[in-house]
Amino acid sequence: MVKSRKVRSRFLYVQCNHCNNKQVVFGCTKTKVNCLACNTPLLVPTGGKALLAKNPATKLPNAHILEILDRNL
Ligand SMILES: [Zn+2]
Repeated sequence: MVKSRKVRSRFLYVQCNHCNNKQVVFGCTKTKVNCLACNTPLLVPTGGKALLAKNPATKLPNAHILEILDRNL
């Protein structure tokens, strides 16, 4: 018997607003995710879903989501 699988892992394809580097990040990360190119924080953990990190000075997000990658593996 096959039950419908819940999608628990969600990956986000994000682009850094500072250096335009694109990378795939885990959307439910428990740790901060930094840009691999310029080390700007991109995601902050909230206990459940992670949120895009914001620049405290401009209140603008440090990254934007290009695509949500849901995979039923
Ligand atoms: Zn960057």
